[in-house]
Amino acid sequence: MNRQLICVTCGSTYPVEDRRLRCDCGGLLDVQLHMDSAPPPVALAARFESRLASRVPQDLSGVWRYRELVLELPADDIVTFPEGRTNLYALDPAPLGLSALWAKHEGENPTGSFKDRGMTVAVSWARHQGARALICASTGNTSASLAAYGARAHIPVFVLIPNGKIAQGKLAQALAYGAHTLQIDGSFDDAMHAVEQMAAQHNLTLVNSLNPFRLEGQKTIILDSFFQLGRMLPDWIVVPGGNLGNTSAFGKALIEMKALGFIDRVPRLAIIQAEGASPFARAAQGGFQHFEPMQPETVATAIRIGNPVNYAKAVRAIRFTDGVVTTVTDAEILQAKHDLDRQAIGCEPASAATLAGLRRLTREQVVRPGESALLIITGNLLKDPDTTIALATGQTAALGIQGAPSLDACANGPRHVPSDPETIARIIEEELQ
Ligand SMILES: *Cc1c(COP(=O)(O)O)cnc(C)c1O
Ligand SMILES: [Zn+2]
Repeated sequence: MNRQLICVTCGSTYPVEDRRLRCDCGGLLDVQLHMDSAPPPVALAARFESRLASRVPQDLSGVWRYRELVLELPADDIVTFPEGRTNLYALDPAPLGLSALWAKHEGENPTGSFKDRGMTVAVSWARHQGARALICASTGNTSASLAAYGARAHIPVFVLIPNGKIAQGKLAQALAYGAHTLQIDGSFDDAMHAVEQMAAQHNLTLVNSLNPFRLEGQKTIILDSFFQLGRMLPDWIVVPGGNLGNTSAFGKALIEMKALGFIDRVPRLAIIQAEGASPFARAAQGGFQHFEPMQPETVATAIRIGNPVNYAKAVRAIRFTDGVVTTVTDAEILQAKHDLDRQAIGCEPASAATLAGLRRLTREQVVRPGESALLIITGNLLKDPDTTIALATGQTAALGIQGAPSLDACANGPRHVPSDPETIARIIEEELQ
């Protein structure tokens, strides 16, 4: 299908090959699909499903197997592991009074977060365009993913991370995969501002979610879910909101799936932010008349963002899907993380905001009894071992969480025992009581 770049603010269009990140008016750009030439949905769906039987990496990828709706490139340009095709788990819907509850585990991607779905597209497109070097600002997962795809594409990678507040697993990946890692004196929002200023002037390819090709890849979370659920989508799709890339990508996916005839009824998006990093939720309360950035603070470092770059696209997504935006406290996030971890879903704190948010929305009757919901688990448990261990050892005060005694029940710290088998056996019998 043909594509062009289109400004979401003023509607100006540019050739898809243009190396620009914004419209002349400053607006965000979308990759617009010309859908007139699309095959009928039944034929397209059958083609997507038939690729599951292939041995070709692009067909096995949970991103590139939808390439007609993502990006069509010569096979040699595609940089893939392959990614996507993450598992979708059924959870018990009864405690929330729902008819069905699922969790799609994007932490099962090659580098442990959904960022791989966007990165495979952004890096493949960059390779197609002969990029000299790749750069991003990151709270951690974008840098881990970029470092990996850059290494496979043999293109140098520069990542800018905020000083402190980056989860250890993510930093370890960026360093191990060979990215040039620049830790800046400032927040994620400062890093984001710096890379956007620099990228164009110095011929560096920016692959934050400001890059519209990233979002084309992230649309496939919705496509994958649709096929895994037997060609349907639930009433609600629940996702954490940081830079609002997923929010924007999901909105675009649903707009296109509706236009193509894949779905008749559009699921509602529920975007969950941490209370301390909730500029989108605040704007939503005022009907998006006004946006105010904020100084972010939350234990969920992946969504510790005060000035989300995809704001305008995210507003469109909420309006199109009749979506809602809500907030949860850090204590609620950690409680939800514990509950998901104990079901061996396992995730990093930002991902657990989904369950915490769904709990709030069912309590407030925004999500109604008998409805169905899908949680998007954005990142792997191993990304942030420090938080997991603090929670397991009752050290939540060290995470900046006060007055949440209920979290003490999450403790499961290691017990020191002598080495003789008799004593160990006795302790095991005690614990089995
Ligand atoms: C990047 C990230 C988010 C935030 O996603 P946005 O698309 O920026 O809103 C949430 N969770 C995890 C684990 C992430 O890595
Ligand atoms: Zn414009």
